Amino acid sequence: MKKIPFNKPYLTGKETEYIKQAVESGKISGDGIFTKKCHEFFERKYGFKKVLLTTSCTDALEMAAILLDIKEGDEVIAPSYTFVSTVNAFVLRGAKIVFCDSAIENPNIDIEQIEKLITPKTKAIIPVHYAGIACDMDEIMRIANKHNLFVVEDAAQAIDSFYKGKPLGSIGHLAAFSFHETKNIISGEGGMLIINDERFIERAEIIREKGTNRSAFFRGEIDKYGWVDIGSSFLPSEIIAAFLYAQIENLDDIQAKRKYIWNTYYNALKPLEEKEKIKLPFIPDYATNNAHMFYVVCKSLEERTRLIAHLKTNDILSVFHYLSLHKSPFYENEHNGSIIPVSDNYTDCLLRLPMYYELTDEQVNFISQEILSFYYK
Ligand SMILES: *Cc1c(COP(=O)(O)O)cnc(C)c1O
Repeated sequence: MKKIPFNKPYLTGKETEYIKQAVESGKISGDGIFTKKCHEFFERKYGFKKVLLTTSCTDALEMAAILLDIKEGDEVIAPSYTFVSTVNAFVLRGAKIVFCDSAIENPNIDIEQIEKLITPKTKAIIPVHYAGIACDMDEIMRIANKHNLFVVEDAAQAIDSFYKGKPLGSIGHLAAFSFHETKNIISGEGGMLIINDERFIERAEIIREKGTNRSAFFRGEIDKYGWVDIGSSFLPSEIIAAFLYAQIENLDDIQAKRKYIWNTYYNALKPLEEKEKIKLPFIPDYATNNAHMFYVVCKSLEERTRLIAHLKTNDILSVFHYLSLHKSPFYENEHNGSIIPVSDNYTDCLLRLPMYYELTDEQVNFISQEILSFYYK
């Protein structure tokens, strides 16, 4: 069998056709027809109040930090087991990151521990829907409302996933999604900011357009535009939006296929979990599965290292994930010294298996069999 990569970006077939249309339209900078189509699609499908495409999820998070007026001395609570951008966006504005541990049952933020991390300086909580599986948002919003805090959902992995029937990204004041080529639907690099709190809509458009009120100008609401706030160039070109539009037209098909692959893995590996050899992803009753990722949790770093090597010998590429951010070279000296053991355990023991649209039944079965034989040999 050929080598099985960890990820393979899926092309629906229409990408180059739409890019050609965008190029030939003569308008290839941002906020043209394809951007509008993408905005309308997400607003209609998920009921988001306002959608703004960005050049990445990282940029959407940076916009969120600016919108919340995060300043030197402010504190932001986020899980340690996450991607750097979740917190780097706030560090750029001068915030101190207060890291929270993950839950035992899955890598999402441990809601039991959030409240004791809140101080008079806390401004925001940034839950990350790890693997597209919802955090307990009712509880997070209750804590935030009680202490007057903002919530920014890092929904980078969470497209088309739900919490008690509500789309992820629609619950916090703001939310950020990614269309990086490793996500379910992609545009190479790309992302979007969701604005659920109407107070932020006007300013979000300004920040995204280099601090100018250009968006209002193009809608004819004002007769000249100028510099009114800080901002940057956070909007993607029409070429990116055209690519993305080809993907979102196929969202349902992509999701159905990914869920099928996910379930095939789950059913094949379930006996290993029943024998307490490994742990499989846990999806609470309030959450859906968008099949962003399939992971297993091993018993130790040593065991995981051997499993990776075993799979590699069979031309299967599996990869571990985050390294706890409180121990990162950049932040360890800023960290308050608290021990964050569950995050460290995922750092050492979580392993992601190949997960992409074109993975065949034969390949998924082969990968699963190799994991079973590793544990039963
Ligand atoms: C992918 C990802 C990001 C960053 O997305 P980009 O679009 O690459 O900037 C941020 N947070 C999480 C949790 C991610 O998985």
